[in-house]
Amino acid sequence: MKWTPLDPPRMFETGRGEPICMKDCGRIALESDEQVTFVTESGAEYDVARKSWGFYATPSLNGRLLNFGLRAALVRSHVGKYYLFLVERGQEVELQSYLDLEQNRLVRWLDNDDDLRAVEASQPTLRAPLPIECPCGGNRFTTVHMYFEPPLGEVRFAQFGNEYRREVFRCGLCGHFISVHTMAPSSLYGGTYVDSTYGDERGMRSAFERIIALQPEKSDNYGRLRRLLDFAETHVGPGPRTVLDVGSGLCVFLYGMKRAGWTCTALDPDPRAVKHAREVVGVEAMMADWFETVDIGQYDVIAFNKVLEHVKDPVAMLRKAAEHVAPGGFVYVELPDGESAAPPYGEGFGREEFFIEHWHIFSLASASLLAEQAGFRALAIDRLREPSTKYTLRAFLVPHTKRSL
Ligand SMILES: [Zn+2]
Repeated sequence: MKWTPLDPPRMFETGRGEPICMKDCGRIALESDEQVTFVTESGAEYDVARKSWGFYATPSLNGRLLNFGLRAALVRSHVGKYYLFLVERGQEVELQSYLDLEQNRLVRWLDNDDDLRAVEASQPTLRAPLPIECPCGGNRFTTVHMYFEPPLGEVRFAQFGNEYRREVFRCGLCGHFISVHTMAPSSLYGGTYVDSTYGDERGMRSAFERIIALQPEKSDNYGRLRRLLDFAETHVGPGPRTVLDVGSGLCVFLYGMKRAGWTCTALDPDPRAVKHAREVVGVEAMMADWFETVDIGQYDVIAFNKVLEHVKDPVAMLRKAAEHVAPGGFVYVELPDGESAAPPYGEGFGREEFFIEHWHIFSLASASLLAEQAGFRALAIDRLREPSTKYTLRAFLVPHTKRSL
């Protein structure tokens, strides 16, 4: 503890009624886990404790503080500023005349269980409605993380400029996360995404070649193919089989599916990704926005490999797949697993699962609710850590309306 007195004290006037002369007497610097106690002549007291993260401004409001003769009160000034007052028990009338004089208002006492629970209960709904819905349909979001600069490794989108501010909310009902920021959603798709992520066509090709050259134990795609082909073996059966990859990107997945003998179709909104799929990977490719496609036929497997988290309405995106699944086929979905990546289980919000391209980061519950809301039944949902260290959920879905597999 370091006490630096101001001698003589710094004097200043304040107050809206008769001017009040205040005396600023000095500074106390506390180290982490040090505390000081403030006392009154009547025996009321409260302590301020320094922590590594800031301060405990008071002891427990509905416990020790109250027992030591002080009642916490939330007060609003005439210009809309809020203050926490600690009022000596028995001085409530004195407080009221002060509030009247200063044109302040007592918002509520914060010294008993009922008042504090009421504050807690109202907290999740204090916010304006968020621009994104939870797959569970609930709106019990609370802020769990704020970014004021990009986390390490996040792609820098040129048009985002210097002003970076992003907030992650967690749904109290299903554990889903959403990330909210001011960047225009349309600018994340098509050209910009490829530009920022891979550079140009040559960048795409070299990223593709680097990934397909990975040893099986280091390749996320190898694990994905093995699991998916195994599942298809049991559920789709032999014969010519077709797969549509929505948001094909580097097309590493279809490269492997083609080698496994499947008839492959890529779909991507970016012309470079489509050209890459046709010319480098040698598969059919459509340049299209999935939401606007019509008459694209049916496929044994429709894959969304880490795609649904990039759109604001993943339920609508997935729902559209139901009409394009061939009888006996299924939809394969990969999603970032926020529940495993976030505290207390994972390393935290600096991880790639929470990067800016993702509006949605899922929990086991929200992944299955996503399927349900989009008209699917989940036959299996795997939770895994991929060789790249990504926390991922993999789901195998069949449309509700179709014959079960
Ligand atoms: Zn939810």
